[in-house]
Amino acid sequence: MVGTPRVVYMDNNATTRVDPEVVAAMLPYFSDLYGNPSSMHTFGGQVGRKIAAAREQVAALIGAESEEIIFTSCGTESDSTAILSALQAYPEKRHIVTTRVEHPAVKHLCEHLDRLTGHKHRVTRLPVDRDGLLDLNQYEAALSDDTAVVSVMWANNETGVIFPVEEMARIAKSRGILFHTDAVQAVGKIPINMADSAIDFLSISGHKLHAPKGVGALYVRKRVPFAPMVVGGHQEQGRRGGTENVCSIIGLGQACELAQARMEDENGRVRQLRDRLEEGLLSKIPNAIRNGHREQRLPNTTNISFEFIEGESILLHLDQYGICASSGSACTSGSLEPSHVLRAMGVPYTAAHGSVRLSLSVFNTEEEVDFVLDKMPGIIAKLREMSPFWQSSHKGAVGGANCPCE
Ligand code: PLP
Repeated sequence: MVGTPRVVYMDNNATTRVDPEVVAAMLPYFSDLYGNPSSMHTFGGQVGRKIAAAREQVAALIGAESEEIIFTSCGTESDSTAILSALQAYPEKRHIVTTRVEHPAVKHLCEHLDRLTGHKHRVTRLPVDRDGLLDLNQYEAALSDDTAVVSVMWANNETGVIFPVEEMARIAKSRGILFHTDAVQAVGKIPINMADSAIDFLSISGHKLHAPKGVGALYVRKRVPFAPMVVGGHQEQGRRGGTENVCSIIGLGQACELAQARMEDENGRVRQLRDRLEEGLLSKIPNAIRNGHREQRLPNTTNISFEFIEGESILLHLDQYGICASSGSACTSGSLEPSHVLRAMGVPYTAAHGSVRLSLSVFNTEEEVDFVLDKMPGIIAKLREMSPFWQSSHKGAVGGANCPCE
């Protein structure tokens, strides 16, 4: 790393630092309080009571009742459980409605179901516009008597764009269709209240809100038909077999309590930092474009395309300063493909390739934002000096350079 010994972590949509208060809550359950929560003896029983308390903490953050919370191993398991459960509830129905910008946890499950059942399941993937927003008329038109479940993410992991899931769930309910939302990126960042909601299933992941990796939760509305995906013991009231991941569940509970306490003040501060970062980058760097609707967005996320260069190169240069971010491309089999989210939004290849996502958390500071604002313009200018696409578009030196993906 050049000139800085520390990490400037701005990749919080990928994962977050476990909060020290979360670590402190978990520690006794690794060493002294190691009983099995299902045991009859007092020693195990106190662990069981702590899990019950964690369930209440998770429920409180989203305005749910504690018996509506099932602990899982991750957001992906919660997503799969919800969608598969909904399909089992209506075996005669074959249609799933989702979007073109879902996380692979839902996107690949739908593709897998399609293949596994010999295309017996029909999947409608709703398009988004240039701002990453859905058209509700198109949504309503997509629903049919054959639709078993709608699965639409609450907030997009790449752009932070928020979908109107409450309204979409009400529409689904009026048609007798179950509604699942992947709220992995939304929980803890924006207020959620399931008490006033028509949503049937909601997925949570611990490591996106300062709890450990490898723990999640699924909200299942009371009286909604449910079929377990992990079948075994009687844990989680028979809804998810397997001895509980006790320490991580306790950590998730503590993280939810912290998120609830910080919701207003801290998320407001994070939003200010994000806006300072975004406005600074857009004003200092030419040909920089924000991806995603300006207002209808999570407070912590900015996704910016720097035209005519590659996101991966930007990340490597940022890494030299200890700055952690993500790009909107995935390196698959040697070729850099722009993300399915940016492609669905119609971001041109020359911009989609050069996209960078910076996602903040309560641990970021103004000093860190200013550090990134200081380093980024030089990095972009240097990479553009080496880019034939930038040269041809800005200096008239064409030389037959085509974007590799066009
Ligand atoms: N859904 C969204 C929107 C995500 O961002 C992620 C993780 O990146 C997941 C689901 C998967 O969560 P987990 O890593 O806990 O399986």
